[in-house]
Amino acid sequence: MRDVTVGLQGAVTNAVVSFRHHTVSIVALVSDQIRKGQQVIGFGFNSIGRFAQSGIIRERLKPRVLGVDPADLLFPDGSAFDPEALLRVAMRDEKPGGHGDRAGAVAALELAIWDLNAKLADEPAYVTIGRHFGYQQPTGTAAVYAAGGYYHGDSGMAGLREELAAYVDMGFDAFKIKVGGAPLQHDLERINTALEIAGDSSRLAVDANGRFGASEAATFGQAIAGLGLRWFEEPGDPLDFELLRGVASAYPGALATGENLFSCVDARNLVRYGGMRPGADIFQMDPGLSYGIGEYARMLDVLETYGHDRSQCFPHGGHLINLHVAVGLGLGGCEAYPGVFGPVGGYSRQCEIRDGQVKAPDAPGFGLETKQDLRPMLQQLGEGS
Ligand code: MG
Repeated sequence: MRDVTVGLQGAVTNAVVSFRHHTVSIVALVSDQIRKGQQVIGFGFNSIGRFAQSGIIRERLKPRVLGVDPADLLFPDGSAFDPEALLRVAMRDEKPGGHGDRAGAVAALELAIWDLNAKLADEPAYVTIGRHFGYQQPTGTAAVYAAGGYYHGDSGMAGLREELAAYVDMGFDAFKIKVGGAPLQHDLERINTALEIAGDSSRLAVDANGRFGASEAATFGQAIAGLGLRWFEEPGDPLDFELLRGVASAYPGALATGENLFSCVDARNLVRYGGMRPGADIFQMDPGLSYGIGEYARMLDVLETYGHDRSQCFPHGGHLINLHVAVGLGLGGCEAYPGVFGPVGGYSRQCEIRDGQVKAPDAPGFGLETKQDLRPMLQQLGEGS
């Protein structure tokens, strides 16, 4: 087990944070198996827009996982690694609650096991994921929208218009822009500018990144209520479920949230107390932030128990791993952040984007090696150099 810390490219900001100093942990699980003359290595990474977790990975997770009998990490029939067994071992002696950064550290490791399993089976990860959870989605594509719509400083509305027009040229037909980082009137002008490009308001979502307090969130919701936007994302603090319930009771359109939840129990609290409306509101929990795909599947169970549908799920992230999760579990879709958050963020050239759909790569595993900007880093990590 090896890990490396990489920085994110693209110095963008939203209403709350700058991504300039953000880092990601890439974990490599080096097996002794050979496929097509190559040693099989599983790769995973934690959520984008956060920080690398090398301390937790090296000091807590690695000794636990490498310290057990390897057979304890396999399914009983020995066919592949059991992600749940890995999770149990990685979480030994960890108390419940207070999930914090360890949820991302464990996620990077758990995701690497899925990549490894899929490579050992010589199939794309979405096939492995779909089969494991009993969900078959043969098309290999997922709905995708272009997220961005940043504050462009000097270039203002022209910069925003240019940015979204570039997404149209790339094959996107739905968009999301940042709000909450400027006075209300200015944000409304930005929304109107974006609508000129998006055309239909159902193709434009707005994201406040948790910026508003209760009254600001209500005011903003009121101001955009008549627009019929695709969704209004993270109006307030991600854990302030009462605030969210308040917005949901007054705002007629869809709300979206969940990208800053760290566990299944967080997601359960969201559906219990956040006023989320079945068939309407959008869930954005991110496996890379919250213990990986096994925990994500448990969240889906909770959502479905409360009457929500997986078509309401669009995991945060904008990268190959969550594309495979969206395809494999038949989710509503995924997001993309064209041009920023590399080398881990973004899709590869194999991922054709057309009519708002993105195709997962056919390569074994998540196909992270198909990303030209990421491939050299993975190679180095795999070689231990
Ligand atoms: Mg967001």
